[in-house]
Amino acid sequence: MKIAIDGHSSCGKSTLAKALAKKFNFIYIDTGAMYRAVTLYALKNEIFSNGLINEALLKDALKDIKIEFRRVGENLHAWLNGEDVESEIRKIEVSRYVSQISAVGFVRNEMVAQQRRMASNSSVVMDGRDIGTVVFPDAELKIFVTASPEIRAERRFNELKTKGDNVSYEEIFQNLKARDLQDSSRAVAPLRQADDAILLDNSNMTINEQFEYAVKLVESKIS
Ligand code: C5P
Repeated sequence: MKIAIDGHSSCGKSTLAKALAKKFNFIYIDTGAMYRAVTLYALKNEIFSNGLINEALLKDALKDIKIEFRRVGENLHAWLNGEDVESEIRKIEVSRYVSQISAVGFVRNEMVAQQRRMASNSSVVMDGRDIGTVVFPDAELKIFVTASPEIRAERRFNELKTKGDNVSYEEIFQNLKARDLQDSSRAVAPLRQADDAILLDNSNMTINEQFEYAVKLVESKIS
């Protein structure tokens, strides 16, 4: 079974996806982490110059980029070329550039191929922007998650503050609005709700309410 969870930036997709994967014993794949890992690599290897991508260098670099998910304690971490980059890829610096990287067609082709391979032998919950539209258009269950931009920014702000990141609410708010705009207006695989996806606006829901709602959806598909 494939469960596709797409939606806007910082709306709790991964919290929901992880909890569903645990409950139903499916594998969980955070596709945003993969685009973030490529972005981190690009930032560290001077693939950007004056804020713009050098596509020839990026194409070459893709051959050297190995992304894996490994269990670290209770959690699944993203690893880039043998290094745990889970916390580095969540930083605002990576968030500033990731939508530019994810708009590049050959990057998307490679990531989508890897995502399909990772899910080829198991039931999966995958979260991202194009899972229900491109990666698994035949997914049995598609949920499109959203919440108001102010609520999303506040949640992300609290999360990063807890981790000790010195970033302002305003910067996060502007970043998520900019990413939503870039992600939905790009030419390749733009962020959009699949026609057969269920819309879930969690602005006024607790994590638990959202989880229980989604569990019922999964159970109705299983039965
Ligand atoms: O989910 P997260 O916010 O970590 O994703 C970071 C960025 O990666 C998004 O803003 C988007 O540009 C890109 N992305 C994408 N397609 C996906 C997942 C993420 O383009 N399936």
